Amino acid sequence: MKFRNLIDLMDFFKTEMDCVKYFYNRRIKNNIPCHYCGCNDSYLPKNNTRIRCRNCKSQYSVRVGTIFQDSNVPLRKWFIAMYIYLSHKKGISSCQLAKNITVSQPTAWFMLHRLRHISKDFFHNEFDGITEVDEAYFGGKEGNKHTVNKFKSEKTAVIGLVNRDTKQVRAVAIPNADKENLLPKIGCNIKMGSTIVTDTYNVYKNLKNNYKHFTIKHSANEYVRLDSRVAFKIHTNIIEGYWGLVKRGIFGIYHWASKKHINNYLNEFSFRYNTKELADCERFDSFLLRVESKTLKYKNLIAGV
Ligand SMILES: [Zn+2]
Repeated sequence: MKFRNLIDLMDFFKTEMDCVKYFYNRRIKNNIPCHYCGCNDSYLPKNNTRIRCRNCKSQYSVRVGTIFQDSNVPLRKWFIAMYIYLSHKKGISSCQLAKNITVSQPTAWFMLHRLRHISKDFFHNEFDGITEVDEAYFGGKEGNKHTVNKFKSEKTAVIGLVNRDTKQVRAVAIPNADKENLLPKIGCNIKMGSTIVTDTYNVYKNLKNNYKHFTIKHSANEYVRLDSRVAFKIHTNIIEGYWGLVKRGIFGIYHWASKKHINNYLNEFSFRYNTKELADCERFDSFLLRVESKTLKYKNLIAGV
């Protein structure tokens, strides 16, 4: 499939059946087995939206076992929503999406949360080479804050890591930006002995035991530093840039992200950031493979919002 914009996508997926066929073929191509017996001997009868299994004789919708299950929204609207979600750098609000694809705002809200749910990074290989690490605070109305405001309990602490070699980012909420919460996140995501650049926040001092650790002193208005011992520049500008993107999205588009959902928003921004080198159609295709996933119940989503 090749499309460069929303018009191309809508031309490609003209009918609901076009979407069903494409979706089914993607599943077959990627050896997604029969939902009920696990065999690879199923087929989609012509002009039919239900898969048939030759082995266990089951008949089931192409949506079974995916995030589209239990949703009455046509696949065509889902595909358009996915395209919009993936191509808007700062995200899209549920009100806007609802207007764009003609569904109710609660439906659009739920669709976006399902999309965020499957944006989670499932690959847990450690970062090697040079990684920038930084913590930030989200919540309230003033935007993200550094540790200066860490005692404000309505803020959610997050840690972000961006690898300069692979240009991949990981960001996750933590209960507090203290030693007990920050160091384990660094330990399980960054290879021991590799290089880490941070600001001068106290907790990071401990990193010198396991890493080549370099710091930049923002409080002294230092933002890029050259060190004669190494060839690279000492700064945390890439992770700071990522925080800026998340901040503009959360406060500009969503206005507010509750503590419960902050990780979902981070997943959304990280997925787009990590696939920024892909063309829109490649990103769409790779995302479509993720929908083989746990379903989310509406009642679980709204509980404790
Ligand atoms: Zn079967």
